Amino acid sequence: MRCPYCSHTEDKVIDSRPAEDNSAVRRRRECLKCGSRFTTYEKIEDTQLMVIKKDGSRQLFERAKITNCIMKACAKRPVSLAQAEEIAASVEQQLLNSMKREVSSKEIGELIMTRLKDLDEVAYVRFASVYKQFKDVDSFMDELKTMIEKKEKR
Ligand SMILES: [Zn+2]
Repeated sequence: MRCPYCSHTEDKVIDSRPAEDNSAVRRRRECLKCGSRFTTYEKIEDTQLMVIKKDGSRQLFERAKITNCIMKACAKRPVSLAQAEEIAASVEQQLLNSMKREVSSKEIGELIMTRLKDLDEVAYVRFASVYKQFKDVDSFMDELKTMIEKKEKR
C-alpha cells in the first residue's frame, strides 16, 4: 500500500478489523519509511464516489479521467503513462481512505497537483494553470517564483 504522505510502498499492518457494515476490512497501517499512520479499507466495490463539478453537477468518479488529465498536462514531458496511472491510483486510494461519498473536482485537482509538483514542474504548472484557476497573474507568478527558488536551493 502506498503511503499517502511520502509515497513509500512498504508498510506494516498494525490493526485489522471489519468495517462497521462488514462490507470491508479496515486496516490501520504504519509506513516503514516515515512512520505515518493511515487507514485503508479493502474490498469496498460498492463504494461509489461522486465528483461534484464546478457547475454543481455530479458525476461518478473515474480513475481513467484523472490519468487522461495528467497525460495531457504531461504532453512532451518525460512522464510515462505508468507514472500518470500511479498518481491517479494514489489519488483514488486517498479519496477512498477518506471514506467520503462526494468530493469536489477542485479537491481532486489539488491532490493531483501535490503529486505532479514532485514529478515534473512543467507539467505541474500546466495543470495548475488550468485547474487551480489562479485568481490573477500575480498569484500565478508567485507560485512560479516559489518553485524556482526551491530549485535554486537544491
Ligand atoms: Zn510514509
